Amino acid sequence: MKKWVYVFNEIRAVEKATGGSWDDVKALVGGKGAGLLDMTRAGVPVPPFFTVTTAACNEYQRMGKFPAGLWTQELAALKQIEKATGKKFGSADKPLLVSCRSGAKFSMPGMMDTVLNIGLTDETAAGMVKLTGNPRFVYDSYRRLVEMFGTVVLGIADESFEEPLKVYKQKKGYKLDVEMTADDWKEIVRAFRVVVRDTKGIDFPQDPYKQLELATEAVFKSWNGKRAVDYRRKEKIPDNLGTAVNIVTMVFGNMGEDSGTGVAFTRNPSTGEPKMMGEYLLNAQGEDVVAGIRNTDAIENLKQKMPEAYKQFMGITARLEKHYREIQDVEFTIERGKLWMLQTRNGKRTAKAAVKIAVDMAGEGLITKDEAVGRVSPEQVDALLHPRFDDRAKDEAQAAGRMIGTGVNASPGAAVGQVYFDADTAERMSKEQKQEVVMVRPFTKPDDVHGMIAARGVLTSEGGATSHAAVVARQFGIPCVVGAAIIKIDLDKRVMTAGDATVREGEWISVDGGTGQVFTGKIAMTEPSLEEQVELMTLLTWADEICGRPNQRSAPKGWPTRGLQVWANADYPKDARRARTYGAKGIGLCRTEHMFFEPERLPVVQRMILAGSSDERTRALNELLPHQRQDFDGLFEAMDGLPVIIRLIDPPLHEFMPSEEELFEEVVTMRVKGETSGLAEKEKLLETIRGLHESNPMMGLRGVRLSIAMPEIVEMQVRAIFEAAADCTKRGIVAKPEVMIPLTGTVKELEWIQPRLTRIAKAVMHEKAVEFPYKFGTMIEIPRAAVTAAEVAKLAEFFSFGTNDLTQMTFGYSRDDAERNFLVTYVEQGILPVNPFQTLDREGVGRLMKMAIDEGRTTRPELEVGICGEHGGDPESIEWCHVIGNDYVSCSPFRVPIARLAAAQAALKSRAHDAGKAGASRAKSKRPKARARPKATTRSRRTALR
Ligand code: PEP
Ligand code: MG
Repeated sequence: MKKWVYVFNEIRAVEKATGGSWDDVKALVGGKGAGLLDMTRAGVPVPPFFTVTTAACNEYQRMGKFPAGLWTQELAALKQIEKATGKKFGSADKPLLVSCRSGAKFSMPGMMDTVLNIGLTDETAAGMVKLTGNPRFVYDSYRRLVEMFGTVVLGIADESFEEPLKVYKQKKGYKLDVEMTADDWKEIVRAFRVVVRDTKGIDFPQDPYKQLELATEAVFKSWNGKRAVDYRRKEKIPDNLGTAVNIVTMVFGNMGEDSGTGVAFTRNPSTGEPKMMGEYLLNAQGEDVVAGIRNTDAIENLKQKMPEAYKQFMGITARLEKHYREIQDVEFTIERGKLWMLQTRNGKRTAKAAVKIAVDMAGEGLITKDEAVGRVSPEQVDALLHPRFDDRAKDEAQAAGRMIGTGVNASPGAAVGQVYFDADTAERMSKEQKQEVVMVRPFTKPDDVHGMIAARGVLTSEGGATSHAAVVARQFGIPCVVGAAIIKIDLDKRVMTAGDATVREGEWISVDGGTGQVFTGKIAMTEPSLEEQVELMTLLTWADEICGRPNQRSAPKGWPTRGLQVWANADYPKDARRARTYGAKGIGLCRTEHMFFEPERLPVVQRMILAGSSDERTRALNELLPHQRQDFDGLFEAMDGLPVIIRLIDPPLHEFMPSEEELFEEVVTMRVKGETSGLAEKEKLLETIRGLHESNPMMGLRGVRLSIAMPEIVEMQVRAIFEAAADCTKRGIVAKPEVMIPLTGTVKELEWIQPRLTRIAKAVMHEKAVEFPYKFGTMIEIPRAAVTAAEVAKLAEFFSFGTNDLTQMTFGYSRDDAERNFLVTYVEQGILPVNPFQTLDREGVGRLMKMAIDEGRTTRPELEVGICGEHGGDPESIEWCHVIGNDYVSCSPFRVPIARLAAAQAALKSRAHDAGKAGASRAKSKRPKARARPKATTRSRRTALR
């Protein structure tokens, strides 16, 4: 019979069943179950429990019923809990109550269901009263069970229970729950049971085993609930993992003033500061703290209230952090002075905290620098480089009295958006109306997550730093302010007020998640400075060190074995300077045509295009030459010592001309009005533009084809490049120009154009009497070039993958229209996994790239290979570039830090992969049939806690 259930002391059996890796343990018993099992082994006080595996959940999803043996195993496990606690499930004498909690491999906070106080019935409740002498506590717990059972298991709406309680309290003249007496709660239990009967036509079960069975099933079902599914989509968690179910002995924080409950992080999850942050409530149950409904007390104040429990708690949490070598997010309950740990898991944190914690932990010797680099995601680096409010604009808004309140700065970042007061509207306005949205709620519940995801920012008037809104926002990197108590929200009138200020639904506000301030209207944003983010700079330096080391990837002789370098796409010296401060090791693409669009140059460019003869064209080009020389001079100076790839003119010429439609309209108007002055010139211009018209310009006269049709342009450009490089060299600047020919489809094109250009390069060096290193290479943007790369590499000294065009040409999807027309549907329908213009399609485009590198390097082993399409800044695509042997990736200056981290992570991953392969083949040759042992590191980590 398959084992579906593990009890609290069975961690070894789980390790045996899974092979022992922590990851596999979590996959089978869920993160929460694994944490509880591990803590129990370490002697941490954990209430006895058992865990139903994710495999059971998956089997349930498949068959629509409990798999054979599950229920029998649950009953047997329950017996073991009874033995450990000396209590009995369903007995009136010593009643055992349990909670039923979800717990998937990856934490999905609040996304699935939990039922507490299972086992309470009229009979056991009476027994509990006798035992505890505390009827108020018992009936409070009982009504919570009926309510949770009703909503979670039976699917009754929350309001069906909230409403009768509200009415009852009003009738009694109570404001707070603490005013409710034992009899009041008993009355509420009765009322809630009526709600169950009236809405579902069944009685709340008085059989505790039925309660447990149905609660287990409800947790299984919650794996496929809307909020869990939405969350998995967002977090890219596979649907087939399933959730485990933890059945845990109830301990009570609501048994009087010597009891309490709380949640805490071992470090500050917002800033990363290495100091415990948490909150607790005396005489309360867990959900009172996280729901943010009652005002909590800071964890450090527990020291005065319960010194012994506090000391023990601090000791245990310090050990847990050391053991897991990660910030821990713990839940605890103190029942009549005794501390129980209910959960430990790696804490969710903001991007800022992630970086600080990783760097601090490496400094403390808790983790290695490589591990620190692996701990921060590229998206988190992205979030840190997101705009924040401009200080001046914020001061002005403040001076103008637009700051309407402050709350807890729960998740940093600036958000400007239109206010919506519920999750559905927020989502709709964002998705359908494409509005920037700030969701404002009194507090949030798991049902609100889709609105939060759609919002630029979240604001709540209630709740604290560990409230639902705060935790979820931090995780998604959504700027968030919680507990802004001055704000009063009227959900019926769809308006919020703060003092004299009134904000209606749809109006703009600005929310500063870093400071907790809330403003009416919009506030301008500024770019953040990387230099000020000291820890991030340190982390990125470590990332560069990883990529700089040899043997980061296995490769044929002559190929790079170090990791990827990160270069930048930059057209102007100011972009190049930014790229360099962001850590770029070269310029991978300078799109020279952008320089032609400058207002004083465009007329000259147009004259050059309209020229009737080669002489006339050369005259116009000679006017452009000094400008281009100056542009390139600035680039070489900014990148002193580093390679600069300059791409020769690429787009079709009509892009430099006025719009045909507008010009036609002008001409017609002049004719109608009888205006003759300038008409003939305009008519000639119109005729030329019409002559340039192509049905499919992206596949027309552009790139190298244009250079062959009109070589004068690129000849001027090459002259400008080499004159600038020569001048720079003379000034002591190390210029390393690399000339890139775009859109090559056949080597014959290079054979035609490249020797002419090389001649100019050499001539300039001769004229200027200087020598410097240079290269001529090409872009690989056309599948034919990729397929015939061995030929192309005979001339090209470097390849740069222009994956924007290569994706367009490989799929045959127009890069300008596909996203608008059908790509969204393709992704939604699963025809494509992702948008291939954002993330490289490894099977198609990626395969062509690999082929091009393999072929190219057979001809020219030292061939330099890069990528300069948009994919160069996308972490998954960067990983592919590492795998296939690129030397570098090139992306926009703003994405350089993200790419540096992604490149290092790709190196770490491939090294781990290679090590795994080597280990496996060694193990195979030594002990052909032996089972792989758990990794040594996992083992030593485990013993540390014991
Ligand atoms: C490309 O095609 O990937 C590329 C970088 O060139 P462009 O986007 O300028 O066509
Ligand atoms: Mg291109």
